[in-house]
Amino acid sequence: MSKQTSSALGRVWSYWMSVPLWLQILVGMILGITVGVVFGEQATVLKPIGTLFVNIIKMLIVPLVFCSLIVGVTSMEDTAKMGRIGFKSFAFYLCTTAIAISIGLVVGYVIQPGAGLNLPLPSGMSDVVKEVPSVMQTLLDIVPTNPIAALANGQILQVIVFAVALGIALVLIGDHGKPAIKVFESLAEAMYKLTDMVMKLAPYGVFGLMAWVAGEYGIDMLLPLLKVIVAVYIGCIIHVLGFYSIVLSVFSKLNPLHFFKGISNAIAVAFTTSSSAGTLPASMKCASEYLGVNKKISSFVLPLGTTINMDGTALYQGVTALFVAQAFGIDLTWVDYLTIILTATLASIGTAGVPGAGLVMLTLVLSTVGLPLEGVALIAGIDRILDMARTVVNVSGDLVATTVIAKSEDELDMEHYNADMVQSAVLAEQNIILENTAAKNR
Ligand code: ASP
Repeated sequence: MSKQTSSALGRVWSYWMSVPLWLQILVGMILGITVGVVFGEQATVLKPIGTLFVNIIKMLIVPLVFCSLIVGVTSMEDTAKMGRIGFKSFAFYLCTTAIAISIGLVVGYVIQPGAGLNLPLPSGMSDVVKEVPSVMQTLLDIVPTNPIAALANGQILQVIVFAVALGIALVLIGDHGKPAIKVFESLAEAMYKLTDMVMKLAPYGVFGLMAWVAGEYGIDMLLPLLKVIVAVYIGCIIHVLGFYSIVLSVFSKLNPLHFFKGISNAIAVAFTTSSSAGTLPASMKCASEYLGVNKKISSFVLPLGTTINMDGTALYQGVTALFVAQAFGIDLTWVDYLTIILTATLASIGTAGVPGAGLVMLTLVLSTVGLPLEGVALIAGIDRILDMARTVVNVSGDLVATTVIAKSEDELDMEHYNADMVQSAVLAEQNIILENTAAKNR
């Protein structure tokens, strides 16, 4: 290769590396579809690239879930200290998440985004006949008799149960638990890093899988992906505008319109950054400046929500799990539906508030009910578009909880809540002046 060609290639490569990951994945998807459509059956030779990627993802699931859940649960150490408010927030977060995923499942059931795709089951899965276990058996099986065997066999629900139990025990033993918590925190960090590294391979994995799917099915597979986007957005709108409005008006007798006006800045940041952790400063500002929530409440409930509350992510997992089941022609039993609700609700505790985290956690939900992980690669190409919507829901959910809890604790300034944006800013200014004067006089 001449020097000029290699330096040109080097420039192209460094430009490619500077492109954001979600865009790289989108490019991988578009190229994969193009190659598949142009070369037809021949493009299926690229499938092993996708299979390799899926195998690498599988490698991450058990250790990632185990460590991140323990860290999620032990991060609630302060929750125990905060007593009543901590308990209220935790219960509120879990209930709203379970409702979100149920909405996702209903929307996915009605819209049927994957119907008619008829993808072949990956080898080894086709001869598995699904037996419906009894309710009693399902409940009993949730508890692992041997946690190490559960980890080794990838029994995800059992791993989750053990991780949550261990996390709670580590918190309860106080100082004795600190060294182990540190170890899990460090392992979780390492798993996040490894996930980060693996996700860098996603554009190529998605390319291989899309070339295979498009090679076999042509562009017919684009419509189902479009339907997934529509389904997730409809679900998110129902959850935010419908369910949250009901919660605000019925439980707290608050006007939802004032709420949505007050959080508009945070929504804009969430939509554009796809990170609820990154949106936290904006959410804090909205809560205290525009909604009139006392900082005592928001500085505790909001960071907790960012860590453990992911309504949008759970809703998305409901829709996409159904999409994958429909795409591969797998019938889900009602036990599967319940398992999806339970897994996604618990998984949301361990999902980080960063872009793309929900996609990794989707692998967990799919593997719990025995759905093919190839489905993740189908979703990966459009994931950023879905991430923007689900992050808005995640952030709105945190702010709804904060407002409802503040109201129930008499820590919501109603004059402030009902004021318009300009008045709110004036009131916030006055509060700051009052706080500063009080601090000086102390
Ligand atoms: N991006 C989401 C968030 O930060 C998490 C996810 O990927 O679902 O809230």
